[in-house]
Amino acid sequence: MSEIVVGGVEKFSAVDFPGVLSAVVFMQGCPWRCPFCHNASIRQIVKETDFSWKKFIDFLKTRIGKLDAVTFSGGEPLVQDSLGDAIREVKALGYKIGLHTGGYRPEHLAKILPLVDWVGLDIKAPFDAARYKEIVGVDQLDRVLKSLDMLIKSGVDFECRTTCDPRFISTADLWQIAEELKNKGIKKYFLQKYRPIETDKATTDDDCEKPFADKELLDYLKTNFEGFEIRR
Ligand code: SF4
Repeated sequence: MSEIVVGGVEKFSAVDFPGVLSAVVFMQGCPWRCPFCHNASIRQIVKETDFSWKKFIDFLKTRIGKLDAVTFSGGEPLVQDSLGDAIREVKALGYKIGLHTGGYRPEHLAKILPLVDWVGLDIKAPFDAARYKEIVGVDQLDRVLKSLDMLIKSGVDFECRTTCDPRFISTADLWQIAEELKNKGIKKYFLQKYRPIETDKATTDDDCEKPFADKELLDYLKTNFEGFEIRR
C-alpha cells in the first residue's frame, strides 16, 4: 500500500470520539476551503513532514491497553486511497476506529464504513447547493447527501455537527439544518462554537455566541436530538 501521509498526531484525546479515549491522526489533503478551517496548513498533500505513519504505528504499539481507539481526522481522511489499509493495520492492534469527515467522497466511504466504529460527519451549511458551495468552495452537496444517506442505512454509530461560524452561519441556517436532519431521522446533532482562525482578527467572542442566542432553537435541539450540547 502507499503509506498514509500524516499531517499531525494528537497522542491522547477524550473529545474526538465520544466516550472513548483515542489517539487522533490528522491526515493531509482536503479539496474544500471552509473559511473557519483550523487545519489549512495540511490541506495540500506535501508528503515531507515530521510525522510518519510508521512512527504513529510504533507509538500505537506502546499504547495497547491504555488507549481504546484511533480517530482518523484531517484534512479530509477520505482523500487518501490507502485509508482502508491504514485502518486495517490499526484494527489489527485491537483499536476501535473513529472517522471525522465532511462526506466528500461517498464511494470511498462505502469501502471503509464496514471497518469503522463511529463517524463524526460535519454538516457545513443547510442542504442548499449554493449555500454549501459558499462554505466549502465547490459544488459538492450531492456527495454529502449520499454519504449521509449511506451512514443512516449502515447502522454505524454516527453524529452530525456544525461549526457555527457567525460570519457564515445564522440562527435561521441552524433551524434549517436541524429540521432537515430531524426529517432524515438523525438522532445525534451537535453545535460547535467557532474559534476564530489566526487570520480572523474581527470576530469577537460575543459574535461567536450569537448563533446560540435563540432559546427556542436550543429547546428544539434538546427535544429532538439525543444528548444535544453546544461544544465550546
Ligand atoms: S473540510 Fe475540514 S479540513 Fe477541509 S477545509 Fe473544511 S474544515 Fe478544513
